Amino acid sequence: MKKHNFYAGPSILSQYAIDKTIDGIRDFAGTGLSVLEISHRSKEFQAVMDEAQALFKELLDIPEGYEVLFLGGGASTQFCMVPYNLLKTKAAYVDSGTWASKAIKEAKLFGEVEVVASSKEDNYIYYPKNFTVPADADYLHITTNNTIYGTELREDLDVNVPLVADMSSDIFSRPVDVSKYALIYGGAQKNLAPAGVTFIIIKKDILGKVDRAIPTMLNYQTHIDKGSMFNTPPVLPIFTALQTLRWLKDLGGVKEMQRINEEKGACLYDAIDSSRMFVGTTKEDSRSLMNVCFVMKPEYKELEKDFLEFATSKGIVGIKGHRSVGGFRASLYNALPLESVKVLVEAMKEFENNH
Ligand SMILES: *Cc1c(COP(=O)(O)O)cnc(C)c1O
Repeated sequence: MKKHNFYAGPSILSQYAIDKTIDGIRDFAGTGLSVLEISHRSKEFQAVMDEAQALFKELLDIPEGYEVLFLGGGASTQFCMVPYNLLKTKAAYVDSGTWASKAIKEAKLFGEVEVVASSKEDNYIYYPKNFTVPADADYLHITTNNTIYGTELREDLDVNVPLVADMSSDIFSRPVDVSKYALIYGGAQKNLAPAGVTFIIIKKDILGKVDRAIPTMLNYQTHIDKGSMFNTPPVLPIFTALQTLRWLKDLGGVKEMQRINEEKGACLYDAIDSSRMFVGTTKEDSRSLMNVCFVMKPEYKELEKDFLEFATSKGIVGIKGHRSVGGFRASLYNALPLESVKVLVEAMKEFENNH
């Protein structure tokens, strides 16, 4: 049976990226070797790195003065690398969910942290807006998509200090005005590649302003100077990331991706809104197009397990909600086709008619 993959991360990749990865594992760029067993300093792998960086710049229209890095450590290592490299005395953070609060915890190790807005008291059901950022903050940190709670900020903020964004789960889902950001980072395992590589888009002139000594591996400058090859980079995930970027370019780029994502989101949110049984968990103006969280209304609550089983019988995989929200979470990442969303919506309607 065809599977419909709604996992939140690691998550669905395009069939193109998977097929090309398999090809590269068998015979990489006509070398007669697998991409798994070749030097990262070979000219063939250097070409992969170069093209992946170039496609990042092209697809996101990244201006001059920025560098694209591919490192290990996951987005979680960025929670400490950002303040290590950028926090002199004080940083501002928006607390919009679990990942944001983890970033805040790390930043506090390096200086004063001012949480300028938080939706924690309301269990993160909306994206906090309308806040002011102190002019003396070294940067403002935001998390554009809250993978666990299903809220998203789908606009690029204008702020008076350098803007840093965790875009782990919505990178390449829409056009982004990169010029408004000093740094964008994310784990690749939501919208780009298998787990193991972290992307960083960094404006070079924001560095060199803190006095502390920074360990070599945690210093952005190290990786800028060495083109992400200071140590062995995550070769295979970078190889797959390149395939995803080629797929995305071929499909029409981020503008077309946004159009498709809006169509997918509307399809599922309309079904939730018109349902007698299901209800969304987030405020309408904050709804994520990447992670759609919903539960069963109180009078049907005991049917949640049954629906999960019913969905599984239809080939629907990965919609069990995160333990901090419960119910269901359907992740509609870039590679998920509209067809899969329609299968989920049909399953919801059929289940509702049966009960
Ligand atoms: C998944 C996720 C993370 C954690 O990423 P790791 O690569 O596992 O460290 C951080 N932020 C957001 C928004 C995420 O979705």
